[in-house]
Amino acid sequence: MSGVMSYFITTAIAYVNGPPHLGHAYEEIATDVIARHMRQRGEDVFFLTGTDEHGEPVADTAKAHGLDPQAWADQNAQRFIALMPQLNISNDFFIRTTDPRHKAKVQDVLQRVYDNGHVYQGLYEGWYCPRCADFKVENEILDGNRCPIHEIALTRETEENWFFRLSAFQAPLEELFAANRDFVMPARAMNEAEAFLGSGLQDVSLSRGKLSWGVSVPWDPSHVFYVWFDALLNYYTALSFANPEEDYTDRYWPANLHVIGKDILKFHTIFWPAMLMAADLPVPQRVFVHGFLLAEDGRKMSKSLGNVLDPFEVIEQLGTDALRFYLLREVQFGQDGNVGLAGCRARYESELANEYGNLASRTVAMLRRYRAGNVPAVAPDPEIVAQFDGLAEQVSALFDRADCTQALELIWQRVRRLNRYVEERQPWQLAKDDSQAAALDQTLTSLYEGLRVLSVLLDPYIPQSVERLLAVLGAPDTALGAARLAAAGPLAGGVDLPELSPLFPKRD
Ligand SMILES: [Zn+2]
Repeated sequence: MSGVMSYFITTAIAYVNGPPHLGHAYEEIATDVIARHMRQRGEDVFFLTGTDEHGEPVADTAKAHGLDPQAWADQNAQRFIALMPQLNISNDFFIRTTDPRHKAKVQDVLQRVYDNGHVYQGLYEGWYCPRCADFKVENEILDGNRCPIHEIALTRETEENWFFRLSAFQAPLEELFAANRDFVMPARAMNEAEAFLGSGLQDVSLSRGKLSWGVSVPWDPSHVFYVWFDALLNYYTALSFANPEEDYTDRYWPANLHVIGKDILKFHTIFWPAMLMAADLPVPQRVFVHGFLLAEDGRKMSKSLGNVLDPFEVIEQLGTDALRFYLLREVQFGQDGNVGLAGCRARYESELANEYGNLASRTVAMLRRYRAGNVPAVAPDPEIVAQFDGLAEQVSALFDRADCTQALELIWQRVRRLNRYVEERQPWQLAKDDSQAAALDQTLTSLYEGLRVLSVLLDPYIPQSVERLLAVLGAPDTALGAARLAAAGPLAGGVDLPELSPLFPKRD
């Protein structure tokens, strides 16, 4: 296995207190696209997702529903587990933080932080948001003592807590940020993390005494760990039990990429590496911070405004691939963007159906009509070869920076190029003239090879459609090495291409 790199990629874990929504789908899809691309490269990928099930709001909501918190968490976790096949997510494991194996490992790691002298007892008083399950520092609070994220009134809380000596990690974090400028991406998110660090780190609560719904503190069982530390540790603990046959920790830790939303930047870029350092564990390589999806009118999505893009409605109307494609195509990954059903339908129609789907349909149909379904064993047009030269490498380089939107744009430029090529060459005219047989062979082979290569590159985005097409093309290999034009003519010579039903049929 020499040369194979391990690649550990995660989403944030979803808080089980509400139902799955577009924000969850977006993060799962984007992370899945990156994981699938890395697998195409032959890397040893481990893709983790899951649910965050502790904390005060879960206990409160369970109570309101007359359930104990575990029953409530069990019921809601199922909705997130069910989301994965609906979105065609290729996660290797799904962690739930109420798993006893996770809890035991959280206690091990935080005991080590305690033994290393980074924990002390003190009195905490501060502004607390029950929705964030987080104390807020004075400079981030909105006027009227409201949560900057939820805009709800904060409560003043005082309690005897165990504290994590976060302030001791000011200098180590400054060194980490200086040594690894890509630790947080994109650059705007790095600036935000650095600004938070620059404002000076204060120690933070590690435990809560008023709560019982959480992982108990081993040296003080009257406390549970503050839900954030328990939740962050999922990335590390899961590796120890995801496979009962093998402890994956040494194979996959540290993580290569955590994909998160911008509302939890501080926890992942400051608290998380500091806690790992405090436990003598290696820190992750990179945290990528994606933006928020807003409605097409630019406002926050809300049921009352009727501007919500419901991922399940898109899947039902246009299919899972359409949702996956649209979200990454429409919004630059790493920035905020506006999305809606009208825009999704428009891209389905104009790009998936009329550009890629139509390129596939006419390529297969012309090969069947003019060459009895066989791909001519001739070299593709040098001009098309030049257009594709280095494409797989450029796409890979963009994925190295998690830029799945620009990678898709590069691929799509070639989809458009091939459609123009059909118009330029007019194969239906060439077919009328026997003296143009060689030109027709070259045209059809160029289209076949170009379509095949683009499909390999599109596989991470729209795997269901691509895999159906590649089966028809008789070229099922989706490894990245297959994403180059066969300069001496296609290897799939002699295949008898069957009919292709539309990849993206017309919808009402
Ligand atoms: Zn809040």
